[in-house]
Amino acid sequence: MKNKILILSFLTLTGFLGCQKGNENVIMNKEDNFKYLTEQFADLAILRYQVPGWDKLTAKQKVLAYYLYEAALSGRDIFYDQNYRHNLVIRKTLEAVVNSYKGSRDTEDFGKFMVYTKRVWFSNGIHHHYSMRKILPEFSREYFNDLVNNSDASLLPLAENEKPEDLLKTLIPVIFDPDIDAVRANLEPEADLIKTSANNYYGRNISQKEVEQYYDSVEDKNDTTPVWYGLNSKLVKENGRLTELVWKEGGMYSAAIEKIVFWLDKAAAVAENDLQRQWISKLAEYYRTGNLETFDEYNILWVKDTVSTVDALNGFIEVYGDPLGHKGAYEAIVSIKDFEATTRIAAISSEAQWFEDNSPIAPEHKKKNVVGISAKVINVVVESGDASPSTPIGINLPNANWIRKEYGSKSVNLGNIVYAYDKAASEEVLKEFAYDDEEIRIAKEYESLSDNLHTDMHEVIGHASGQINPGIGTPKQTLKNYASTIEEARADLVALYFLPDKKLLDIGVAPNDEMYKAEFNKFIRNGLMLQLQRIKPGDNIEESHMRNRQLISKWVYEKGMKENVIEKKTRDGKTYFVINDYSKLRGLFGELLKETQRITSEGDFKSARNLVENYGVKVDPVLHKEVLARYEKLNIAPYKGFINPVLEPVFTNGEITDVNVSYPADFTEQMLYYARNYSFLPVKN
Ligand code: ZN
Repeated sequence: MKNKILILSFLTLTGFLGCQKGNENVIMNKEDNFKYLTEQFADLAILRYQVPGWDKLTAKQKVLAYYLYEAALSGRDIFYDQNYRHNLVIRKTLEAVVNSYKGSRDTEDFGKFMVYTKRVWFSNGIHHHYSMRKILPEFSREYFNDLVNNSDASLLPLAENEKPEDLLKTLIPVIFDPDIDAVRANLEPEADLIKTSANNYYGRNISQKEVEQYYDSVEDKNDTTPVWYGLNSKLVKENGRLTELVWKEGGMYSAAIEKIVFWLDKAAAVAENDLQRQWISKLAEYYRTGNLETFDEYNILWVKDTVSTVDALNGFIEVYGDPLGHKGAYEAIVSIKDFEATTRIAAISSEAQWFEDNSPIAPEHKKKNVVGISAKVINVVVESGDASPSTPIGINLPNANWIRKEYGSKSVNLGNIVYAYDKAASEEVLKEFAYDDEEIRIAKEYESLSDNLHTDMHEVIGHASGQINPGIGTPKQTLKNYASTIEEARADLVALYFLPDKKLLDIGVAPNDEMYKAEFNKFIRNGLMLQLQRIKPGDNIEESHMRNRQLISKWVYEKGMKENVIEKKTRDGKTYFVINDYSKLRGLFGELLKETQRITSEGDFKSARNLVENYGVKVDPVLHKEVLARYEKLNIAPYKGFINPVLEPVFTNGEITDVNVSYPADFTEQMLYYARNYSFLPVKN
């Protein structure tokens, strides 16, 4: 069930995307001055993303996406409450202070209060979104008293006849005492995982053993198509008996779920096609009834829908927040198909034979009939619950194993999210490691497009190219542990070799003959320096994509040394690698492509080993140390989350005729906006 590809930081991004190029796997070709990184605090960075392709949607598709967007945000409160029973009260108290505190805001303490509040928003509660440990404020209990007592009492989440001091009595230990409800989901095996976890999935008086016995008794072990027992309920003990409070219309969380259903019904009415209408309606039916078989039916319909432009997932999905893996966290993501990526990939794929025929590899290693591979990318419109502000970069759902086996799963990359990650991280890094303004200019102007093209060509024509000599066996058999490094190198080299080719201009995917330089610069910078940042001091390179990048970069650097193709320069004690001759570098890429193809075609293990061991594995310890030191100074936050775009419907004669998208830039404002518009669950203190 670990189907969600999470990003912890950009450091760990590469390697999560299967054979793809990792953090270069981004889809968008519009260069812009959009601000991706808005602020950093604690261990967090706040980013933004755009929705490329929104303007290409029909009015009806935009309206559909808008209804699904409203459905997504309507469930936002649920995730707070699932994470901890006091979360909503705490959030509303913090928001009341932010909105109405009468004291000075220009103090260090207030700054610390805002950092705490933003961390709570980021984590959808008072436990860290990743470590799941309680976040402790850096201001005092006395100051918190002062904040609450000097805020508008009418905004506080007070029960009837309750006074602010009563509220404080409840909240202060919960917020400040590190021992009370310290961990959201405890995974230490010796403890009672239910009693020691602070999440709100089980009643306070239930033990792990009781939960296990309960689900043992209700699960049918002979069922080959089992529902995910307990996925959409809270298990409680009432009058000594265990019972499930189901999250459905009329059940627990009804106030929010009614809104979700309201918007899903509207969405179903404007669906793009019948299958899409069916799965949206099925999802609404599931929320109405709470029936988990209906949820499975919805999943099967959803998996079958591969044609719709607008897509959404919405439900109780991932179970990481429950140490016993029963309870699904509320999550929603609305997305649209990436048109630009789809068009570009199709243009390259349809010319796959031309690229094969014009490749520098030996004629006998060329395929007579090469078929390009396709790849799927989406752009996110909004995320909510478990997917926001911290987000996955790829999704592979549904989680039910029997559905995956019988009906398959949907696996998609969140193109615009990955792109934003890349942009936010790369600006500082670029300034630090690029040699001069010209290199920075080229990168800023073209890097997103050249990156995308590299990824497309790597995937679509790179892996598809070349053939193995008869009777040789697969690379896994012949090249063994070096097979994947050689394979990734081969695919990268196809992309690098063809990036400067006039053919890309002819088929309309490259704007000019300068664009490719951005990728050449980046590849060399990354292969010889940047990626060393992910390696611990004293370690060698193990991961095959990383080995491949160093292998290529080091090989062309060494082979071009005599003619000074790539020059190692030092300035103020900092090392730079500068490309002096792009066309000779292309020639070297071609030579190495020919050689890696020969190794693959002939199954030449000895040459594969020599190439990888001599160029791909060993790290220059002095340069490594320098790279780590330079990165450390950049102060890049390990966890990142996103401000969502805002959709606003345009009405004509009472009907929605269009939907505008805008990109707010202030995290606090967005959180307050959501609080005003999507606080549907009643708060019982
Ligand atoms: Zn690959």
